[in-house]
Amino acid sequence: MEQATDTRRRIPRTDALLRDPRLAEAVGRLGADTVKSAVRQAQDRARRGTLPPEDVADAALALLPRTAGGLRPVINATGVLLHTNLGRASLSAAARDAVRQAAGPTDVELDLHTGVRARRGRTALAALRARVPSAGAVHVVNNGAAALVLAATALAAGREIVISRGEMVEIGDGFRLPDLLVSTGARLREVGTTNRTTVADYADALGPDTGFVLKVHPSNFRITGFTRAAGTAELAALGVPVVVDIGSGLLAPHPLLPEEPDAESQLRSGAALVTASGDKLLGGPQCGLLLGGDDLVRTVSRHPLARALRVDKLTLAALQATLTGPGTPTADALAADPALLRQRAERLAAALGADGAAGVDARAVASEATVGGGGAPGVTLPSAALSLPEAYATALRTGRIPVVGRLEGGRCLLDLRAVPAEDDELLAEAVRAAAER
Ligand SMILES: *Cc1c(COP(=O)(O)O)cnc(C)c1O
Repeated sequence: MEQATDTRRRIPRTDALLRDPRLAEAVGRLGADTVKSAVRQAQDRARRGTLPPEDVADAALALLPRTAGGLRPVINATGVLLHTNLGRASLSAAARDAVRQAAGPTDVELDLHTGVRARRGRTALAALRARVPSAGAVHVVNNGAAALVLAATALAAGREIVISRGEMVEIGDGFRLPDLLVSTGARLREVGTTNRTTVADYADALGPDTGFVLKVHPSNFRITGFTRAAGTAELAALGVPVVVDIGSGLLAPHPLLPEEPDAESQLRSGAALVTASGDKLLGGPQCGLLLGGDDLVRTVSRHPLARALRVDKLTLAALQATLTGPGTPTADALAADPALLRQRAERLAAALGADGAAGVDARAVASEATVGGGGAPGVTLPSAALSLPEAYATALRTGRIPVVGRLEGGRCLLDLRAVPAEDDELLAEAVRAAAER
């Protein structure tokens, strides 16, 4: 009892701990509340006798988050390139740098030569237009759903959107596209059947009330067998605007994803407007793209709702850097050579495995990755993974460097396709730490 009291007395007080230069520096970086909370947790451990009093400062430091932002960086070893729960596309180094530079005051809405107000995000919009020659004009909003809402509101509120029954889709987490469209005050005119819709089905439904025909890319499922869908060119010939929601944000055809629709081809086929997300296959920040003819884009961008959906300067900076800078991590992951992925897995297994220093039951195995995040359904990409005992999944997810893998056949697989090669050492470190816990 006396000894316990003595130990308690030796626990450093909060004000003394905050004078530790390392913790004082952390107050400047993370804020006093965050540091005090870590200090309190460490003191509590010492009070419970699970931490020696002299280790309280070190323990508080170890409990501090890496940034004040709350979101923790994780390694995406799921084998799903665009994982919505992990924030979809990983920004390129150029985009990260652009976000940092744009964080302070910027010329987002000011022409520095003339000193007068300028179009918001004009350079990012110009970069987008330059990548899609068939787009007369472009507009950017907060996400793909916002792009659709804006198109439906500006072009079809109080009127009809003609859509195939096969394209009334739920994107994920209960987000149903038809509900979103109806919320704008537009009416849905469903045509055709789940598996077959012809141009004649659309033609029969057109009338004075038609706002536009909407084609939606079924981006997370496939209908196969006895199917039929009308193409954009055939629909454009009907004489009403055709809006195409391509989802993934491919601007031009991708050789590895021949079935994935892209903005340039859709516009060339006669689409009046294309909508897409910025953080899927485009590999950029979360945003929604609208590309099309001058008149339609002007109508949507000048609608009062556009103001409520406008993007911030950080997004514009990241989008432009994505469009003009060097390749994105998403593009790299898509193009990764399976033989090189296998080599990386073998190197990791050798460093960690039963014969390696860490003595972990780690093996290199073949794996299959997917695009995910609403792109290229049904496409699998040959990959390689580090295979670990299943119990590693939780330890890796909750470690200092969180790693999210996937469970398969009673093993925890760390698929390397979405992991940049430069993160292999971090990954090995995380596995070693998990082995010790
Ligand atoms: C992902 C997706 C959306 C939604 O886009 P967000 O950027 O997530 O809002 C809409 N339509 C399709 C076809 C999609 O794939």
